[in-house]
Amino acid sequence: MTQQERIYLSPPHMSGDEIKMVEEAFATNWIAPLGPHVEAFERETARFAGVEAALALASGTAALHLSAELLNIGRGDLILCSSLTFAATIAPFYHKGAECAFVDAEPESWNMSPKALEAAFADCARAGRLPRAVIIVNLYGQSCDMDPILELCARHGVPVVEDAAESLGSLYKGKRTGGFGRFSVFSYNGNKIVTTSGGGMLLSDDAEAIARARFLSTQARDPAPWYQHSTLGWNYRLSNVLAGIGRAQMLHLEERVAARRRIFDRYAAELGGIEGLTFMPEPGWSLSNRWLTTLTFQNPLSEKPLAKKPLAVSPAEVLDHLAGLNIEARPVWKPMHLQPVFEKARYYPHEEGRDVSADLFNRGLCLPSGSGMTDAQQTRVIGAVKEALAKEALAKEALMKARAPKSL
Ligand SMILES: *Cc1c(COP(=O)(O)O)cnc(C)c1O
Repeated sequence: MTQQERIYLSPPHMSGDEIKMVEEAFATNWIAPLGPHVEAFERETARFAGVEAALALASGTAALHLSAELLNIGRGDLILCSSLTFAATIAPFYHKGAECAFVDAEPESWNMSPKALEAAFADCARAGRLPRAVIIVNLYGQSCDMDPILELCARHGVPVVEDAAESLGSLYKGKRTGGFGRFSVFSYNGNKIVTTSGGGMLLSDDAEAIARARFLSTQARDPAPWYQHSTLGWNYRLSNVLAGIGRAQMLHLEERVAARRRIFDRYAAELGGIEGLTFMPEPGWSLSNRWLTTLTFQNPLSEKPLAKKPLAVSPAEVLDHLAGLNIEARPVWKPMHLQPVFEKARYYPHEEGRDVSADLFNRGLCLPSGSGMTDAQQTRVIGAVKEALAKEALAKEALMKARAPKSL
């Protein structure tokens, strides 16, 4: 049997306008360094997110690192971070020598639980040691419940870093994500809703801090006629060619959000009726870009079965089945508090004895969600998921019967 065309999880989606911007960069020889596309991309993105200033960088990770530099995070400083995320969120803080403690998700949004954060702050207050920063993440495109989280952090005078790498174009109570933190971060990695092939943005209302980050991201050159350094920096800037790609991509963001939401709605309509499958919720205050369609399985691995009839199939089995059909799916992020590197880190669950992020990891699955995915491709994915659920369940039933003692 010939292999069917591969369906990727979230591949780059080009509109055709990118090449015009790239040609413009070539025609004017603004290949590097920096140039007019970079300046325009920053200006347009700052206005988009409703913040004072933005800095275009080589990656979202670089933007997160500069936020750690600007907050002057050092050895032994305590950082509270959302546990259910990609390692890039916390890596720069870890590398600065910070003590990383993790906060669970809430079931309503899958993002940082305000209840768990409150417990974390209470614990910190008892120990007489406040965190130096709280890092929130807008997972799979969905905003955190900003109001209670920001209120808690403001009450304790602790700055917030908003990892909005996955939530470009998403809203919280009508306001765009990417403008909620002291520092906020977008990513334009190849799998994100807007891509420059690789890139990121640091955003803030503190224009002075962004100017400082600009200085640090261009090798920290003092204003002197020779190369003089009173401190040392990094080479983190985005090239003018790539900024051109980003500007063109941004012209199509609203369509991309609509496309991903349509994809989510179709998955939910065609698979949501299967007992035991539940799609990622969207609270009233959220309008998610639905970066990835994500769902959870009720299966025997679950501690507390919610469905009357648990599914006989695990997400890993469905993932394997899809892989065999050349369809790329992924598990939900493995929470940071379950990572070997953070074995000893402190963790604040949503409720006593209830670890929401671990549960989402055990039962979750991400389906192909690229905004360029065709209806026919999605039909293939939906068919494959249904097939996996039926096939594995039948195989298990047969196995159980074969193992059952004769007398029964
Ligand atoms: C993609 C991503 C990042 C990292 O962005 P890069 O541009 O790939 O460095 C950080 N945090 C989250 C949640 C992400 O999904």
